[in-house]
Amino acid sequence: MSKKILITPRSFGKTSNVPFEMLDKYNYELIKNDTGKKYNEDELLEIIEDFDGIIVGLDPITERVLEKGKKLRVVSKYGVGLDNIDLETAKKLGVKVTYTPGANNESVADFAFALMLTLSRKISKLDEIVRNNRWEKKIGTEVYGKTIGIIGTGAIGKGVAGRATGFNMEILAYDLYPNEAFANRIGMKYVDKKTLLEKSDFITLHVPLTDEMYHFIDSEELNMMKDSAILINTSRGGIVNEDALYNALKYNKIAGAALDVYETEPPTNNRLLELDNILLSSHCGASTVDATNRMGVMAVEGLVSVLEGMEPKYLAK
Ligand code: NAD
Repeated sequence: MSKKILITPRSFGKTSNVPFEMLDKYNYELIKNDTGKKYNEDELLEIIEDFDGIIVGLDPITERVLEKGKKLRVVSKYGVGLDNIDLETAKKLGVKVTYTPGANNESVADFAFALMLTLSRKISKLDEIVRNNRWEKKIGTEVYGKTIGIIGTGAIGKGVAGRATGFNMEILAYDLYPNEAFANRIGMKYVDKKTLLEKSDFITLHVPLTDEMYHFIDSEELNMMKDSAILINTSRGGIVNEDALYNALKYNKIAGAALDVYETEPPTNNRLLELDNILLSSHCGASTVDATNRMGVMAVEGLVSVLEGMEPKYLAK
């Protein structure tokens, strides 16, 4: 009997047929999520029992889902953020979890920079003005030569730092594991959290959502920031306390924020959407042709390696 594979990411195979061609060789039975949105836990619980493997996006692979998936041997994450997968339970049950490091970091770094520029120069507002047959000017602030604080200097954080050198920025960084060699090479300086928050004009988050990182940016941290500071979050919504952010933006404790990610996605009934000094996007940091192609290929490689008895290249620990 052929192995049954569930594919949940909406963009999988959309920009290139290569991931499907790779899968074709194995005669798997493929079921694609065609609901147009990610599955919730109950929907996964209803179907997971039948599957040998899953290529997963942001859908919740919880303890209950893993326990119900009696045949499941591999969860292949299409991306790098593993916070939607219960890694401990997967390990306990012997389900291998693979992921795709290096596939989307440049896309997300581009996006974080784009958000910074768009918000600083109010470009989304200007677009709206001209479309509405108005001809007005909006005064923004320069990015060039300012101080950027990068929280998390892994693949994406390093990409943002590299881009910041081109804008002649002073680069401050914070990470559990500082990469001094990289910092020295590009002129970036590791500092403590308080210094980074107090000194930066732009603060950008590139850490995973772990227990320690939950609400890492709360009212105390927002109070430490300059009133002209701009916060960019392309990482995970849970890293920022959204109630505290709402108050900081509403009462101009900071100048602005750009969010690609939210504590609950999509962010329906979220008060942040009412504010004017915020720029919003729909978890699109990795949504490029380039990253989509790479994530598709690497996710298939991870899945196939486990199901065909080979050593997976990128196994989550
Ligand atoms: P990465 O693993 O390369 O880097 C993460 C960095 O965070 C590492 O340098 C690590 O040392 C640091 N870190 C981890 N825990 C920490 C802690 N407690 N305190 C301080 N530093 C800590 O990951 P990456 O590829 O740069 O991705 C970062 C995050 O971006 C992902 O976890 C994911 O949540 C998010 N992401 C979002 C999108 C999007 O579409 N918006 C796409 C890809 C990734």
